[in-house]
Amino acid sequence: MTYFPLTDAQRHWLEVAETVGRETLAPRAADTDRTATFPAEQLAALRSVGLMGLRGDPDHGGVGEGLLTACLVTEALAKECPSTALIYKMHLESIEMVCRAPTAEQSANVVPKLVAGEWLSTVAGSEAGHKGGAWADAPKASVAQVDGGYEVANIAKSFVTAAGKADSYFFMCSLERPEQRPKQLMFQLLSDDLDWTVDEPWDGLGMRGNNSSPMTFNGRIPEERLINPDNQPVDFFPVVLATYAATYLGIAAGCYDRLHAHVAGATLADGRRMGDVETIRGRIANCKVEIERSRALLYATCAAFDEGRHGGPQPFYEAKVASDQLATFVTAEAMTLGGGAAFAKHLPFERYFRDARAGMVMGLAHDIAVQSIGRLLFPKPKEDRKK
Ligand SMILES: Cc1cc2nc3c(=O)[nH]c(=O)nc-3n(C[C@H](O)[C@H](O)[C@H](O)COP(=O)(O)OP(=O)(O)OC[C@H]3O[C@@H](n4cnc5c(N)ncnc54)[C@H](O)[C@@H]3O)c2cc1C
Repeated sequence: MTYFPLTDAQRHWLEVAETVGRETLAPRAADTDRTATFPAEQLAALRSVGLMGLRGDPDHGGVGEGLLTACLVTEALAKECPSTALIYKMHLESIEMVCRAPTAEQSANVVPKLVAGEWLSTVAGSEAGHKGGAWADAPKASVAQVDGGYEVANIAKSFVTAAGKADSYFFMCSLERPEQRPKQLMFQLLSDDLDWTVDEPWDGLGMRGNNSSPMTFNGRIPEERLINPDNQPVDFFPVVLATYAATYLGIAAGCYDRLHAHVAGATLADGRRMGDVETIRGRIANCKVEIERSRALLYATCAAFDEGRHGGPQPFYEAKVASDQLATFVTAEAMTLGGGAAFAKHLPFERYFRDARAGMVMGLAHDIAVQSIGRLLFPKPKEDRKK
């Protein structure tokens, strides 16, 4: 049962995601993890059912669905294959800004391909030495403005999901300005705009199908790749945070479903059914409560966004923080209740347990998201803000 009231369209897209998750993602998830193989076939399945353009404008061939639908879908995919879901989430995050505020050129030549899923997109933001990843406050590496574009010299991105596999990159960098903070620039680059190398194979603890490798970029970015040159107001960050939250909520929920099935079917050495042991069913009940609590927060927050009544970013930080913690909590409980079989990798819990760890460090790292909430709770007095 979904506690939150969903529209027919939301229910429809949830069912589409559940079906593709069950039929195409779930049977391949363990292999994707074991072999660290990029899930090309799974992404093709998402494309074939129209999920890549879920939030795209119908004028560009998109579905035009809201943030809640995007999160329902991301959660459903993450339940079955977190690696595929994270690549999908990165595509949504990467194309959001250009879909919301395209130039005429982007509207004609770029957005329709991204929305159709003909081009897979991803985020090239984080840099080693710029602590906190893509969305932290530190300025990114600089480009030089030249005639007709921007010169990129050896910009190294530390983690790029779908590195070398994506057709387009949401590329973050800075432009130095005399006596001012550097200007943050965002581009939607096509993969053949720049020379690039993938600098290491991806062999992560979790999210092993992601190809989240470091990359180095060189060359000239054409001027027309700049996103939102007129600085239109686009409320974009909630989409980044909410789809992260949905991914980690999905990891918790996918692990929980398997844990529940395991406990419902297992007996202990003394002959008792696992589900009849109070401490065991208490732990499961607690996981269920925590999942519904985080889910309610995320869905309510997304619905507020879709209705334009969310106010500011705080609830999205809260939803991301809640889901990160939830995923690490539920997957750790599953590892305990799965006993030696879980530890020996005979049960799927350890895969979710490893994938869940990424939520604590990635996107906006968990601790930075917590700090962001703290700053909003205790704003500096106006006179201190420039200090
Ligand atoms: C699986 C995976 C996929 C990824 N995919 C992408 C991608 O597609 N695109 C992309 O751009 N990036 C990606 N990243 C990078 C990710 O966003 C960064 O790893 C993350 O933002 C943290 O940055 P960092 O690794 O530099 O950690 P660091 O900045 O070194 O932080 C390490 C820890 O220090 C603490 N910390 C750091 N700064 C602060 C602060 N200001 N306040 C309080 N605590 C702090 C936190 O505990 C943090 O976890 C990915 C990472 C992973 C693990």
